[in-house]
Amino acid sequence: MLFSDLGLSDEILKAVEKIGYEEATEIQAKTIPLLLQGRDVIGRSHTGTGKTAAFGIPAVSSIQKGDGNSVRILILCPTRELAMQACDELDKFSDFMPWVKTCAVYGGADIDRQIVSLRRGANIVVGTPGRVMDHINRHTLKLDNVRTVILDEADEMLNMGFREDIETILGFVPEERQTVLFSATMPEPIMAITEKYQRDPVVVGVEQKSRTVDSVEQFYFDVPMGRKTDALQMLLLAYEPKLSMIFCNTKKMVDELSEQLVSKGFRAAGLHGDMKQASRTQTLNAFKSGRLNILIATDVAARGIDVDDVDAVFNYDIPQDCEYYIHRIGRTGRAGKSGVAYTIASGRRQVSELMDIARYTKAHIERRELPSRDEVMAAKANAVTEAVKNCVMSGKYERYAEQVAALEAEGFSAEQLAAALLGMKISAETKNVPEFIKPVFRPNRGEKGAGKSGSVKVEISVGRANRIAPNFVLGALVDATGMAGKNFGKIDIYDRFTTVEVPEADKEHIIDSMTGTKINGQKIKIKLYEGRDSKDGKDKDRRDYRGDRKRDFKRQRHGNHNTAGRRNSKRYQ
Ligand code: ADP
Ligand code: MG
Repeated sequence: MLFSDLGLSDEILKAVEKIGYEEATEIQAKTIPLLLQGRDVIGRSHTGTGKTAAFGIPAVSSIQKGDGNSVRILILCPTRELAMQACDELDKFSDFMPWVKTCAVYGGADIDRQIVSLRRGANIVVGTPGRVMDHINRHTLKLDNVRTVILDEADEMLNMGFREDIETILGFVPEERQTVLFSATMPEPIMAITEKYQRDPVVVGVEQKSRTVDSVEQFYFDVPMGRKTDALQMLLLAYEPKLSMIFCNTKKMVDELSEQLVSKGFRAAGLHGDMKQASRTQTLNAFKSGRLNILIATDVAARGIDVDDVDAVFNYDIPQDCEYYIHRIGRTGRAGKSGVAYTIASGRRQVSELMDIARYTKAHIERRELPSRDEVMAAKANAVTEAVKNCVMSGKYERYAEQVAALEAEGFSAEQLAAALLGMKISAETKNVPEFIKPVFRPNRGEKGAGKSGSVKVEISVGRANRIAPNFVLGALVDATGMAGKNFGKIDIYDRFTTVEVPEADKEHIIDSMTGTKINGQKIKIKLYEGRDSKDGKDKDRRDYRGDRKRDFKRQRHGNHNTAGRRNSKRYQ
């Protein structure tokens, strides 16, 4: 449907044309006329369908020159980014209506500046519930003249615990008003809000066959435990997305992952709620402008972030909720473009969680194998060679021919020089391609060796308190080191740590490859086990063991009664 068929003013139509929208999306075509009539509306459609314009265009349209400085429309959004983004869009819609005054109020930003801006007069206030409450309490935001309240991403606002704030805010708005609610989902608590606060609402739903967007291809990889970062790196290098978003479940993981990717030379940065507003805005702008091409975010921080050209989404952690999956992959394939979503799963449990999500969302998520190191290396080498060919063709560096001639005069051939240069460039490009160590089959060191001269113990920083079982430890060791299970000896699980007998010759490889991995979702530290076995009866560490009931998870083949027996007898005698 054309915007010109929706009964909009010329000013708005000009603005829409300037923005470049050709046709109204379905949710826009269905809700704009209703909102212009002043009806209460419940709008439900998935992410990326243009809900901001669906409420923003009628909102802007309704502001008249005579509205002066008072607040006529209040829009509540779950996050500061969304509030800013919605406000930016409103400004675009009102490009040819200079009398429309908008103002965004959100936490984490200087409140005094917002107060000044509110005092100057605002017709449309867009804000997060917390900060709006704050302004109400300071009497810097008056809602007596509000005609319309719009709740954007209502489901997310309730998820974030804003219900009480929202209800309080609604209490400050005149009862004679239009109440509009947009949400991707309609869970029970939303229905309760609509019943309580809306009058005879029209429900506008946009149905979809599949809950995920058709324009997004979805794949998953099943990678060895503890190798997600390597896998991610491999995918980034292999597919080279221009702009990508990576999702983690926790702020901590966002920080860790961005640190790791930055250290590998990627132009990446993290975004989460603990960051100062200024640095969040800075990061987001850097991403929008392409200065950063990888944005790592939590679900909440990324909610609704509207960047059109994201060509790939990576789920580093399996989303905790089906809705999150839908929102995450909805960050790509926007505005008629195509996109790809990759989920990195590790272990049977994560794969089955993902399959549950696929069933619920009716998404088709196809399994793929990671590209191999050789493939990626070869592709990089090809790309460099192509680039060199193009460069020769463009004549760009012809001015260096003289230097080459000089080198040739010294006796180097052009072939040697070119090979060295290509080699340097290719090895620089490929130095970060990770290696997935294939399982190495190691000769059995012999029953007698274990626990004695050929083996040492490592200490891993998780134990019974982390619900660790020997299988988890063994599984993680095998996955991370690529060594066969039978190389590992006795596993002793204590309350807060675990020791494992490992071949002395492999101790460094084991500690290296296990560092930073997770066991049962718990990030671990690993080091050589030392001191606590000391024969010195006064060894202070041994005090830790008292009351720490040790369970012997003796692994049949390598279990060594002597070691355990010795220690037990000493300790308990
Ligand atoms: P939602 O809130 O439903 O997730 P947004 O309002 O953020 O969706 O819009 C998603 C993207 O689609 C934005 O980039 C927006 O500029 C674009 N968009 C919105 N309406 C149209 C339209 N009618 N034609 C083309 N693009 C549109
Ligand atoms: Mg939105």
